[in-house]
Amino acid sequence: MEPTTSRLGALLRDGRTDPATELARVQRSLLKLAFALSGRSTELDRVLAKLTNALRNGERNVSVTGTVDEIIATIGQVDLAATPKNVSLATARSVAAQFIDALSAAMAPPVPEAIADGKTRLEHADNDRALLALTSIMAQALAGSLGQVQSDPASGGSGVSLLLQTLNQLHFPESLTGGVRAVRTRLTEPPRPTDAEATRAVVELITAAQAEAQQESDRLSSFLRQVAVKIAHLQQQLHYVNESRCASIRESEAMTDNVVGCVNDIRSSVEVADDIHSLKASIAGNLESLHKGVDEFMSSARQRSEQTEELLTLLNGQLQTLEGETKKLREGIEHERERASTDALTGVANRLGFEAFHGHEFARWQRYGGDLSLIIGDIDHFKLINDEHGHLTGDKVLKTVADQLRSQLRESDLMARYGGEEFVVLLPNTSLEQANAVAEKLRHHLQCCRFHSGEKIVPVTMSVGVATYRKGDGKDAALERADRALYLAKRMGRNRVANEGDLQTRDQTVAG
Ligand code: GH3
Ligand code: MG
Ligand code: MG
Repeated sequence: MEPTTSRLGALLRDGRTDPATELARVQRSLLKLAFALSGRSTELDRVLAKLTNALRNGERNVSVTGTVDEIIATIGQVDLAATPKNVSLATARSVAAQFIDALSAAMAPPVPEAIADGKTRLEHADNDRALLALTSIMAQALAGSLGQVQSDPASGGSGVSLLLQTLNQLHFPESLTGGVRAVRTRLTEPPRPTDAEATRAVVELITAAQAEAQQESDRLSSFLRQVAVKIAHLQQQLHYVNESRCASIRESEAMTDNVVGCVNDIRSSVEVADDIHSLKASIAGNLESLHKGVDEFMSSARQRSEQTEELLTLLNGQLQTLEGETKKLREGIEHERERASTDALTGVANRLGFEAFHGHEFARWQRYGGDLSLIIGDIDHFKLINDEHGHLTGDKVLKTVADQLRSQLRESDLMARYGGEEFVVLLPNTSLEQANAVAEKLRHHLQCCRFHSGEKIVPVTMSVGVATYRKGDGKDAALERADRALYLAKRMGRNRVANEGDLQTRDQTVAG
């Protein structure tokens, strides 16, 4: 951990920045670290609480920077195996996945390799220790990029706007929707909170989300335990049914033996009979015992069949209840997954949703070939819209832009909100030329839309980058080319479309 400690320490101590900037940095790292780690180690919780208190009290001095160093140093020293674990591995993993997403979205490209690879590493982190190691790599990358994040215009100016951005990128459970809305209102409407108050509100929300995730996981475990007990019970009853079936077979075999025995007795009494009277008496006796045997067999079979029927009805009912409960659970999980892949503000897919669709379409393209293209659009000077009309108007613009873009696309195209004011569209069976035309249509459509803030018209335009998958491409290749084309469009003056072909033309121009 030494390099991180000294790097961050130097960054905060070198005096090149003013205290307000330092505080914003500290809050950023606090939020991300607290999010990734709170509840996982008593010692870490203690230092995190210390920092939160310092910020809450409005301290903007050396003690704040010292505490950040302490936190970073603690990440490396914590022995999770020896401390109580408040969070299950699955919860910790889902929290870490959100953390990685939020981190990569907040950073200016290129995202450091350690963070870009974070998701893959996360899949292999199958214990607390591995998860902790991964988080400390992330924290190092975060500390290393603080300077870069600071200079990145995408992160905006004030701490509050940064917190809002982070808030938008996190996935909260449905039960916290009201709480999230309240915090967003608190952050965006007067009286504006101080950075410290805003940080506290967001950290509290994240802590509540963690607790909710834990409760959900506990509920699930308890439900699964109940299911296991019910299944064991069902198995036992099925065993009875089977036993009863075997007993029936045994009885009917005994019954057959009995009938055969009686018939043989009758036959031999016929053979040995001296006179008709004794023959009659002997046959009557045999028939009597045969009749009794059949009677007993029939009554036992009837009783057994009634019992089995009753048991089967019971089993059927229990199975149906179990099926209903599991169906509800499965639907709940599917609903949660759907929600986790959807951007709450705009209702289009979020990065997670996009990744799933992208992975699927890329695999299909690799197997069957054909065309697969990508469009990335970024709203021009969106920061100005926020600054001039307020964050709430900014949000409304984002929602309307998403609706308008979606209205121009085919059902088979997938549009997602990729970052703050950045949208990506994946177009299956679409060539570069066709994708270029779609991009131009989207750009033009947006330019013609009239956005209002009160009486004022808010001009909204978008720069767009287009690329298509080419033989030998990896999954991210076209995404990177589209991103470079987007930045070319920005450099060429914004409100325009550039495609990967323009990149080559430009490279040749530069080379020439
Ligand atoms: P450019 O033309 O170069 O893209 O300039 P820009 O201002 O659009 O880009 P910049 O990256 O400087 O700023 C993006 C802004 O988007 C900053 C951030 O506060 C804002 N933003 C990001 N997410 C949200 C959100 O969910 N709601 C609102 N209202 N604003 C957001
Ligand atoms: Mg922009
Ligand atoms: Mg942007």
